[in-house]
Amino acid sequence: MRRKYAVTQRSLTIVRRRLVEMPKPLEKLSEIEIEKKGHVSRVMTHVLKYLTSKFVDSEFEWLLPVIFSMSTDPLWPDPGASVEKRIEVEIYGKTVRTTLSMIIHKMVACSLAHPKLFILSPNVRIERRERSNSGKHAYEFTQLDFEVRNASSEEIRSFVEELVCGLISSLKKHMRTELVHLGRYDSLEVPDMPFRAYDKVELESKFGKDWETRLMHEISEPVWVTNVPREFYDFEDFEDGQWDNYDLFLPKYGEVLSGAKREWEYSKIVRKMERDDVKKKNYEVLLKLAKDRRLKPSAGAGVGIERLVSWIVGAKHIGETQPFPKIPGLVFDL
Ligand code: ASP
Ligand code: MG
Repeated sequence: MRRKYAVTQRSLTIVRRRLVEMPKPLEKLSEIEIEKKGHVSRVMTHVLKYLTSKFVDSEFEWLLPVIFSMSTDPLWPDPGASVEKRIEVEIYGKTVRTTLSMIIHKMVACSLAHPKLFILSPNVRIERRERSNSGKHAYEFTQLDFEVRNASSEEIRSFVEELVCGLISSLKKHMRTELVHLGRYDSLEVPDMPFRAYDKVELESKFGKDWETRLMHEISEPVWVTNVPREFYDFEDFEDGQWDNYDLFLPKYGEVLSGAKREWEYSKIVRKMERDDVKKKNYEVLLKLAKDRRLKPSAGAGVGIERLVSWIVGAKHIGETQPFPKIPGLVFDL
């Protein structure tokens, strides 16, 4: 049978021999592999049910996602981003982009109409193909993005800690059979609260440039990383140079959530966009709202669902948690 992979057979063989085994498309799975897929999918179902119920019970409004917009996350400057291609298409005479994250929509919706909101949103990030064997990247994934008007970073972080701990204890109670089959029942433990927090600058001076990899192999429980210089929308104190943002890192799987308190002042946003070379014309609505003082302070975060579930089930590759794997550099039919 002819393969339709986007990389050459030779480079694929090299990748396979050296590193993570690539997930296969559904139609190529053996019976045992299909059984495993079922366990993972039931865990995924429980995770989605648990998380969405918690948000609804905490009076968040559940918004539907968008795919095409003129404004999306610039993903720049972001030390962790590695986008090989940005998708822009013309529809009805306008240039629109596929959603990289719904951060801009969250800020606008939270300011104008929905003070507590969450969205399960498909994010399309065409990662560099070398990332296929990281085991942690997919070129399409689902982000559970949420935002709260006037919230502080501390409030968001406590909410996340309770969410993660509640989720793990619920999984251990209701998904025992599946976790036992997947070999994760004993090793998956409810983390201690509060989670430890590290400053990114300190991590970099301790571990060097490769601090992310070093950190995720060093920890045995989820930890926070704070003060990460990145996109204009995260709050930066111009006086002391500190960023009021946070990432949640999982043992072996790395960053599973990123979030922040947001910028809302027009002059700061403009100054940061100019400094970072972000095109202001791609953010007209956000800038107009900020100028008219209709943008409100908020804080929030987004959870990578497939990465969260990869950690829970101990997946070798994130594609194992997707019914139709979207592996960088590998395009399957479905
Ligand atoms: N969801 C993130 C946030 O809330 C944005 C991102 O995807 O990096 O900050
Ligand atoms: Mg971000």
